[in-house]
Amino acid sequence: MSKINYKSVEEIELIRESSLLVSKTLGEIAKVIRPGIKTIELNKLAETYIRDNGGVPAFLNYNGFPYSLCISLNDQVVHGFPGQHELVDGDLVSVDCGVIKNRYYGDSAYTFAIGEVSESVRTLMRVTKECLKLGIEKAVAGMRVGDIGYAVQEHAEKHGFGVVKELVGHGVGTHLHEKPEVPNYGKRGSGVKLEEGMVIAIEPMINAGRAGVKFWNDGWTVSTVDKKPSAHYEHTVAIRKGPADILSTFSYVDEVLQEKINN
Ligand code: MG
Ligand code: MG
Repeated sequence: MSKINYKSVEEIELIRESSLLVSKTLGEIAKVIRPGIKTIELNKLAETYIRDNGGVPAFLNYNGFPYSLCISLNDQVVHGFPGQHELVDGDLVSVDCGVIKNRYYGDSAYTFAIGEVSESVRTLMRVTKECLKLGIEKAVAGMRVGDIGYAVQEHAEKHGFGVVKELVGHGVGTHLHEKPEVPNYGKRGSGVKLEEGMVIAIEPMINAGRAGVKFWNDGWTVSTVDKKPSAHYEHTVAIRKGPADILSTFSYVDEVLQEKINN
């Protein structure tokens, strides 16, 4: 996609529908993710749930990606493969999900703590989630892509964390990855101007240690060079005058996690 596709109100509603199915799928994952579960089981659950709800898993066969979810453990940043690995207490698991429904895509990711994680991992999760929130706050018509990146980078680096530069957020529409690119770093007032009708995925990928990443020879998995953990949260949002319209939601995940705490 070489140019920005601006969306009509009707198209934004279709992207919302797809994004909500992604969000509900992540809520289903939240219900079962625990020590002892194999990540391939999460993948199967997601694929079945998406298809049962009239969608198609967007990542499956995307440029040859062989699964419906990207599941990235601990020092893996993104694009990890689900597999026979059983989750254990203390794991940090990024689950990235995409859906196509009525030709339109939705994209969102959530990082789960399995059982008890260390205090430093808790902080990484909290700060990465805050980075997403701060980035979304800048996603307003008239601002620029660099304002989002600056907000994310400034917050992460203030806490001594590394911002992944090699992978970026993106436009979302009838393609999973459209223009513009939405880096998690940048200069205020720089880059593409945000305008009404743009729909973008904002997705901070924040490392506990150094920013550097390496690309595995499986062609997909990305991990930190220093083997320290990485967190990743993502929302699909529509740009308008005033605060962005957040099309995906963590409310399904939050509800499940809150119930787990209460029980
Ligand atoms: Mg994603
Ligand atoms: Mg994305």
